[in-house]
Amino acid sequence: MTGGSTRYVNLDFAASAPALTAVADRVADFLPSYSSVHRGAGYASMVSTAAYEAARRRIGEFVGARADDVVQIVRNTTDAFGLLASAVPDWGPGSVVHLDLEHHANLLPWQALGSRVVAARETVADTLAALEQELARKPAALLAVTGASNVTGEVLPLAELTAIAHRHGARIAVDGAQLVPHRRIDLGSLDLDYLAFSGHKLYAPYGAGVLIGRRDWLDAAPPYVAGGGAVRRVTVTRTTWADAPARHEGGTPNVVGAVALAAACEALAGLPDGALERHESTLRTRLADGLGGIDGVRLLELWSGEVDVVGLVTFVVDGYPAELVAHYLSAEHGIGVRDGRFCAHPLLDRLNEGRTAVRASLGLGSSGSDVDRLLDGVRELVDAGP
Ligand code: PLP
Repeated sequence: MTGGSTRYVNLDFAASAPALTAVADRVADFLPSYSSVHRGAGYASMVSTAAYEAARRRIGEFVGARADDVVQIVRNTTDAFGLLASAVPDWGPGSVVHLDLEHHANLLPWQALGSRVVAARETVADTLAALEQELARKPAALLAVTGASNVTGEVLPLAELTAIAHRHGARIAVDGAQLVPHRRIDLGSLDLDYLAFSGHKLYAPYGAGVLIGRRDWLDAAPPYVAGGGAVRRVTVTRTTWADAPARHEGGTPNVVGAVALAAACEALAGLPDGALERHESTLRTRLADGLGGIDGVRLLELWSGEVDVVGLVTFVVDGYPAELVAHYLSAEHGIGVRDGRFCAHPLLDRLNEGRTAVRASLGLGSSGSDVDRLLDGVRELVDAGP
């Protein structure tokens, strides 16, 4: 390893963000009361049930859920969209509309339902116009959009998208996997119908995520996970299902995951207003400007400079396969980035002819020296020549 330092630099927060100490502490506090939820009569069961339901409320509060919204605890964003896909009313082919920049989690479930895809245009305004035209041409039940792209980091204009969806009688679902860890979001004031995100990208452990939103579709949907806890009454021939959220949470739920996710939400809510955004945006500018200034490095962007961007940069280095760049940064500089197509193949087809790229992503605890280490590493690689 060069540079005289062996400190590992994590620049892969967008994949999974390490759990905060406050989250680990909350989990450690909770573990002694580990017991069955919802169905136990003992004291520990009551504590566990209360902790699970309090976690559900706190997660909802963190993103401004309305009083009548349902907070479904699921495994992750992928699972959240699987659940929503099972709840979308079937208006026939094309019931769901989405863009071509989505992570597969917010694409494959819709593709399976025969969704309509609108290609993102050169400008945000043209993209919004194209979506509006499509929804006006043929009504849809749902417009599914990413909050922030996991490839470009670009934040979509959610207020405008919501207005367009609602103008044409559609609901809107937002993939918040990359947005919620970086920006405060308020379902109620944005008038969003559904929001999904993952705990492991929000400084909580793997295994818990949420789908939050309007109750009626969730109450009408077939149970997503049928089993104990999801029912009101079962006879040998017939089942009466509970309402959401219990309806979709059959089996023993991930109580520890929910408690941890709520703790992460509280920790982020406790940061001074705008502190996270300012910290990340200063570092992101340093990262993007630094990479952009290196000969042969190209950043992948859709709407350069037109929109807010969360703390990540995806780039390619002329003459070097992305895998090689990522492995070089790891082996020679102790820097963890990600390479690949980021589960967004259609977007990589557009931005990089389907080829892989390298993504560096920032989070709480990232520093200017982390960014400089990456820039030094990429410069050293380019200077050495292919
Ligand atoms: N959506 C976006 C924008 C993502 O970046 C990711 C994960 O990388 C997902 C959805 C899927 O998240 P999970 O793997 O937690 O289901």
